[in-house]
Amino acid sequence: MKAILKTNTDVGLSFTADAPEPQIVQPTDVKIRVKATAICGTDLDIYKSDPDMANRMKPAMPVITGHEFCGEVTEVGSAVDKVSPGDYVSAEMHILCGECVNCRTGNGHVCINTVIKGIDADGCFAEYVVVPVTNVIKLPPDLPVNVAAYLDAIGNAVHTLTPVDVVGKRVAVLGAGPIGIMGAKIAKLSGASEVLATDVNPSLLDIAAQHGADRTFNVGSEEGRAAFHKASAEDPTRKGVDVVMELSGHPSAYDDLFKCVRMGGEVILLGLPRKPLTVNFTRDIVFKGLTIHGIIGRRAFDTWFRMLGLIKAGLLETLEALVTHTFPLEDFQKGFDVKLRGEGLKVIFKP
Ligand SMILES: [Zn+2]
Ligand SMILES: [Zn+2]
Repeated sequence: MKAILKTNTDVGLSFTADAPEPQIVQPTDVKIRVKATAICGTDLDIYKSDPDMANRMKPAMPVITGHEFCGEVTEVGSAVDKVSPGDYVSAEMHILCGECVNCRTGNGHVCINTVIKGIDADGCFAEYVVVPVTNVIKLPPDLPVNVAAYLDAIGNAVHTLTPVDVVGKRVAVLGAGPIGIMGAKIAKLSGASEVLATDVNPSLLDIAAQHGADRTFNVGSEEGRAAFHKASAEDPTRKGVDVVMELSGHPSAYDDLFKCVRMGGEVILLGLPRKPLTVNFTRDIVFKGLTIHGIIGRRAFDTWFRMLGLIKAGLLETLEALVTHTFPLEDFQKGFDVKLRGEGLKVIFKP
């Protein structure tokens, strides 16, 4: 079958037309024909051979990459009775151990033994993928394939806002890439009184403004940053926003974050800073009484049910607008080039 592989720690990925099809091994396995799959930020790290990622993946190489997808069930193991061939599905690609303290207390998204398909084991940039039935979720038949292709990333955005109550609150979204644009829209759908969004890319800020952000700020200039700090602090009863989502990973965004959040506010971190940051814990966290949430993955399946609910509640239009490019799997290089040039939002492959 066709597949995109990481075969070594060099920069780039490779296409093959004759990878062996994955087989049902466990009685609880489900084999899925991939209809559409999407590039995630993590896949760009894999492409670039970011040292942490490359070292993690080395033992699994050659490994089929990709972890965001939807497809159709073609075969099920002998113990599977809730899913049948023909079902339209997606899957959580974090495979959990089921035994650790987090798995056994309903917090499997921080399973200490997580195996991620597409990183530690074969993923979905391929014609077929095999996933345990406990990770499979059936989808509404009318959910567009190009949107279902990236439920994994939609789940990151939904999970980011799940630990906080944004009803009637002011929310700042730092970084208006796909997750930030979804975050702005989800915050509005969830009842936020005002959403401020920042980025350094004017076209992304335009899209954010069409999908949930009430005001946008280009923080690529000192004037833009000053305008954002001023807007954050303009409500005299708060002198800052109630909730900040940091999605950019950019060092200057952490300065913005601690300046714009109010005393007693909440901070949600999903962005990945590439270098260690210097933070004044005394001034910026302890004396501000902040609550900080680190976000990883999705809660299976709380996050998944919430995202399907939010799609019904008005998120779909935003999700469709984020799909900018579609390529056949063999043209994977074109898709990655688009993302590496910083041009596309969600890039979809159709195996
Ligand atoms: Zn992802
Ligand atoms: Zn576990």
